[in-house]
Amino acid sequence: MTTLLTNIGLLATQDAGIGELTDAVVVLDGDRIGWVGPASSAPAADDAVDVGGRAVIPGFVDSHAHLVFSGDRATEFAARMSGQPYAAGGIRTTVAATRAASDEVLRANVARLATEMLQAGITTFECKSGYGLDVPTEERALRIASEFTPETTYLGAHVVPADTPRDAYIDLVCGEMLAAVTPHSKYVDVFCEQGAFDGDETRQILNAGIEAGLIPRVHANQLSEGPGVQLAVELGAASADHCTLLSDTDIDALAGSSTVATLLPLAEFSTRAVYPDARRMIDAGVTVALATDCNPGSAYSTSMPLAIALAVRDLRMTPTEAVYAATATGAQALRRDDVGVIAVGKRANLVVLDAQSYIHLAYRPGVPLISQVWQNGRRVV
Ligand SMILES: [Zn+2]
Repeated sequence: MTTLLTNIGLLATQDAGIGELTDAVVVLDGDRIGWVGPASSAPAADDAVDVGGRAVIPGFVDSHAHLVFSGDRATEFAARMSGQPYAAGGIRTTVAATRAASDEVLRANVARLATEMLQAGITTFECKSGYGLDVPTEERALRIASEFTPETTYLGAHVVPADTPRDAYIDLVCGEMLAAVTPHSKYVDVFCEQGAFDGDETRQILNAGIEAGLIPRVHANQLSEGPGVQLAVELGAASADHCTLLSDTDIDALAGSSTVATLLPLAEFSTRAVYPDARRMIDAGVTVALATDCNPGSAYSTSMPLAIALAVRDLRMTPTEAVYAATATGAQALRRDDVGVIAVGKRANLVVLDAQSYIHLAYRPGVPLISQVWQNGRRVV
């Protein structure tokens, strides 16, 4: 089954740069892209869809989300907006609700947010554990997450739970808990932060995960300048996430590495915190991705378009850079080479924007511009 998407006003393939084509056609061949090029030389197809001169981009790749949880923290958000600071300890509120929830409740929550993500144009997403913090709930979280995405991350090291001594908990995270989650996990992650885990603990936990065959990623330098970014680079992490407060040494380390700096501006937005300086990073040669960080505490949003708008306005990225970071570089942060670009042989994941250009994603903040979403060759929105 082949489908021709015709009358594409602007196609931004993200392949070898932004890859802009006007008056372009894309052929979807089963779940893959079969052909890309000018309308004048388009091949025949079984079916045709006229997108009416709209812009088409790859489906967004959200490389950082926490979707397995129960309850919400709206009251905490309201208090924060009234002046209370964000601290790592708020996670424990969600832990209590998540432990008490059934598999069905947790599964329904992931399904609801996965649908919300599709409506926001996200066709590939990563999902972390980290609200169980005991062996059975972390195992359940990753088993349920893996029903929705292959991009699953073990974040037993989110915070130390109130009911377990610190050393005993780190032994558990590196031992019994790791063994229980490994069959359902692709990555291991640590919240390396004051109030969460220090540099030595982060190194110990990531190394245990690496030994078990997981790929490291790190919550690094969100609330303070710490060792997270340096550790991510040293251990060959797929990404260092947040990167809000970076020293020149951190920037140099990232620029000289294959570790992606994944920026999460919806977290700074929702915690009224200082934004990371993407301009400084990009100008220094750092590879930057954008993700939602969707979680009930610090960023309860699945809106990649809003993340793009913030990246342009407050992180000083260009619209071209921001869209690239939400697609092609997001895929790089997940070590995926089959998504995030529109090119022959890649997955047929595309977003049709209700606009003539992807610039409108930043230019028209908060406006619903996702007109159609195609995932694996099927129209899903
Ligand atoms: Zn996070």
